[in-house]
Amino acid sequence: MSGVVLDGKKINQEILDELRPRVEALRAKARPPSLAVILVGDDPASQIYVRNKIKACQELGIRSLDATPSAEISTPDLLEIIRCFNNDPQVDAILVQSPLPKQIDEREILLAVDPAKDADGFHPFNVGNLVANRPAPRACTPGGIIEMLKRYQVPLAGKRAVVVGRSDIVGKPMALMLLHENATVTICHSKTRDLPAECRRAEILVAAIGKPALITSEYLSPGVVVIDVGMNRLTDEAEVHRLLGHDARRMAAFAKNGTTLVGDVEPLAMQEISSAYTPVPGGVGPLTIAMLMANTVRLAEQHLA
Ligand code: NAP
Repeated sequence: MSGVVLDGKKINQEILDELRPRVEALRAKARPPSLAVILVGDDPASQIYVRNKIKACQELGIRSLDATPSAEISTPDLLEIIRCFNNDPQVDAILVQSPLPKQIDEREILLAVDPAKDADGFHPFNVGNLVANRPAPRACTPGGIIEMLKRYQVPLAGKRAVVVGRSDIVGKPMALMLLHENATVTICHSKTRDLPAECRRAEILVAAIGKPALITSEYLSPGVVVIDVGMNRLTDEAEVHRLLGHDARRMAAFAKNGTTLVGDVEPLAMQEISSAYTPVPGGVGPLTIAMLMANTVRLAEQHLA
């Protein structure tokens, strides 16, 4: 068997194309939607994520504002930046890029963002709305995964879904969204006994762990739909060869760049055993940005109604 590729770039483009006329309508009516991005410090990975988010805004005609305080900023000073964006009627959505430096009280920051401007859906008020299945901004990565599964017409109702990972940004909201789609959901984590056996029961398996290729063939049942959220950067040649040696194109790119991304699922096992899977890169990653844009446009529509 060779699984169908669930193409995140294609779905990303579809979602952005559908948002374009809505952005135009808002422009014609009042003003473009706007997203404020707060990037604390100079973490290179965060800088790339933020650059990609701002690029997506530019492509769509969404206005982006940014604040880039130094890594030494205090919690009160960061709260003040958020307060300014909360009070600015020109700002529809606010995103605080994680991770935040150690001295920052992350919970206080999440609570400070106005829930009506919560681009990431991380405010406890919106998490509560997710639990109750009420309309509200949804966490972008799991929201994008549901969108992709629907667009590929993967049936969810009544299916056994296993989510590995219980983080507030991926695993937990993912499990709730699958539950709201009437899947029968199991959540696994680092204390789960016999993880391979739990995973083998899955008809839909979501891996959001952050451990390169932890999920091997032993964890997969034939025909499973695999969503690989993991984004792990590898530089060790032997390890890259072990996981990607079958893929001449990826090996050539690694030889050139000295680094490559792999997910939480062993690539060859996923391709050969699944009925459908998200590749890394090019699967879940592009959906996250598309859903951030969708959240921003929806919040702007509410503010400008
Ligand atoms: P996280 O906060 O570190 O959570 C990881 C989860 O995996 C935890 O719940 C942890 O369990 C569980 N876990 C760790 N080791 C395990 C093991 N050996 N067996 C079973 N479960 C284990 O990570 P995250 O923020 O959810 O991100 C997960 C991955 O997704 C990362 O690679 C991240 O880069 C990627 N990601 C990608 C996107 C995207 O747009 N593609 C977006 C967000 C995140 P405990 O709770 O018991 O510790």
